Amino acid sequence: MELLKNKILECGIVLGDNILKVDSFLNHQIDVPLMRAVGKEFAEKFKNDNITKIVTLESSGIAPAFAAAEEMGVDVVFSRKNQSLTLNKNSTELVYSEVFSFTKNVTSTIYISRKHILPGDNILIIDDFLANGEACKGLISLIQDLGATVAGIGIVIEKSFQKGRSLLEEQNIKVVSLSQIKSLKNNTIEFLN
Ligand code: 5GP
Repeated sequence: MELLKNKILECGIVLGDNILKVDSFLNHQIDVPLMRAVGKEFAEKFKNDNITKIVTLESSGIAPAFAAAEEMGVDVVFSRKNQSLTLNKNSTELVYSEVFSFTKNVTSTIYISRKHILPGDNILIIDDFLANGEACKGLISLIQDLGATVAGIGIVIEKSFQKGRSLLEEQNIKVVSLSQIKSLKNNTIEFLN
């Protein structure tokens, strides 16, 4: 997706050899026209997959997931990471999974309420980045525990030099990334195609 690649080149900040900071359009401030275009692109790529719901992880997945959901006419469920007064961890209403965060170097518990995903739902997972696939792995586990099917995964920025894509493809899941980064070495953003 050329618009996205140009934005990454214009605004992305390389941190070390592995991390790309995109706070100015995706992870802190959101570029709304770009996100709308991202949503349209995901809707086009998954138009024949009979998606009934989109699932993402708070917080950075919400913007692209919302944009795609609006285009596709479905709702978004974002799995949550923190306890709140309205969600009781001991409740049987919730299903849990553990996710190791590549950027934060910590494992956190994520959860979704059974009320929002039904057995038979055909789910599209959307996330901002794909690195080692841990976030997607956690979401897949939650969705399967809820008796629903993962029909595909849409990623805004894939770091193709990490193992996430191969891990997901091993499970025969359709993975669509709107941009694929081959390398961040020498402070330079190099795309796969
Ligand atoms: P994974 O779970 O695939 O290892 O990593 C994906 C998650 O980690 C994403 O949800 C994203 O929040 C975060 N992440 C991984 N790599 C990067 C990166 O280079 N930049 C940013 N901003 N987030 C990243």
